[in-house]
Amino acid sequence: SRRKLVVGNWKMNGMRAHLDEVEAIGRIAAEHPAVEVGLCLPATLIMAADALRGAAFIGGQDNHWNASGAHTGCLSAEMLAEAGAQWVIVGHSERRDAQGESDAEVAAKAAAAHAAGLKVILCVGESLEVRDAGGAEAVVSAQLLASLPEGAAADWLAIAYEPIWAIGTGRIPTMEAVASMHAALRAALATRIGSEAEKMRILYGGSMNGDNAADLMAIADVDGGLVGGASLTAAKFGPVIAAA
Ligand code: 13P
Repeated sequence: SRRKLVVGNWKMNGMRAHLDEVEAIGRIAAEHPAVEVGLCLPATLIMAADALRGAAFIGGQDNHWNASGAHTGCLSAEMLAEAGAQWVIVGHSERRDAQGESDAEVAAKAAAAHAAGLKVILCVGESLEVRDAGGAEAVVSAQLLASLPEGAAADWLAIAYEPIWAIGTGRIPTMEAVASMHAALRAALATRIGSEAEKMRILYGGSMNGDNAADLMAIADVDGGLVGGASLTAAKFGPVIAAA
């Protein structure tokens, strides 16, 4: 059985003034030891977020595929790990779209993160155009396999299915559509990593909140959530953690 994984993605939010929320989230996480909880913070807060450690993990939101070099504005996985990150997100749609990241680059980032000792949340998801046209499961499955790093294993990699049209919109797919997509993604994983696919956690992300989290995470192949807006305060994130 797969331990539920509930991760907040703070995106470009969070100043020192919000560290009290980080601490409060850590206290809630400590009350739910059966759930693995983490916060992927802006890199500027990783070192300051030490209060979280023990109760929840701290993660970054992206890493470069190189360990160092002439990449202005980028952070390596080694840097994030040294700062105290234990996990990192790669392949978020906001980076695939705004930074033009390819599947191959996402796979390279995941591999670099693993080499630096970080665990990885690898994001995939379809646009509204793809969803409306039909065939979203085939498109996202292909995206997943093209983004999957060599040697992918459940002890360091989790998948996050995030339909782009559900991110920050308040809209989510039907429970049937989520169940069907997650089953399709697990089947796609099995073609590459065999029985390891049964152990790998597949999170749902996109407008998850305290009202819908219990239903979403009750779906057989939904092993947790990647939560944006509803992770920014303990008052909102607490109910999501409690629903896992
Ligand atoms: P929201 O929960 O704000 O829709 O964001 C989801 C997301 O993109 C998490 O990575």
